[in-house]
Amino acid sequence: MKCPHCSRPVAREQAVCTACGFSATAIRAYLGADWVRLERITDVSGRLNLRETRHLETVLDEFERRFPQCFMAAYCGALPETLTLPDLGFWLINHGAFQTHQISRRNDFAIVMLVDPLREQAAITVGYALEPILTETVLSAILAKVRTKLRQGRISAAMEEACRQIDESLRAAGQRQDAEPERLPALVSDASDLGLQSLRGTGRSQPLLPHAPSTRKLPKKS
Ligand SMILES: [Zn+2]
Repeated sequence: MKCPHCSRPVAREQAVCTACGFSATAIRAYLGADWVRLERITDVSGRLNLRETRHLETVLDEFERRFPQCFMAAYCGALPETLTLPDLGFWLINHGAFQTHQISRRNDFAIVMLVDPLREQAAITVGYALEPILTETVLSAILAKVRTKLRQGRISAAMEEACRQIDESLRAAGQRQDAEPERLPALVSDASDLGLQSLRGTGRSQPLLPHAPSTRKLPKKS
């Protein structure tokens, strides 16, 4: 993963970014250490209407058909002041149990698009395996291309455009690397790598974020 603050590499187990002092532990303390179920589209802000949501789902489905080793989720919500979109993206890549029928796919190949409609900001966070292709430079260029749509409040259109741009970047990289063997997910080292553990019995449609405290274990009342 890249540090959400300074973009330097941060090892999975590493708690603090040695370059800038960013603390993954601090985010975990804020959002919790549990996995959360991440729907393909989480619209906490209620900015996407049913038609837009369905259309976006189709767009994401089609993306995953073209890139079966990847999966993509979209998050739309107004974040508290203390949390940035890259912070949340970083946390979701590490703690999001993506809705997917192929459990062999790991978060290394995950892509999360995040939009804060109030701040009119967007971020894209990708898993380890995609970082060499979807670099900071590539992602910044993609975000620049969707900025106008975001300012116009066209969130669904902005996400669709971002998906299209990501698609093009991956395709271009695929053509460049045609001669190289396909990169496969690393072996699963423990069950939590499957991203399906520690989920609590929450309703499927209930957004777990940004109501962060609810994702943590509450002490039993005596
Ligand atoms: Zn850093």
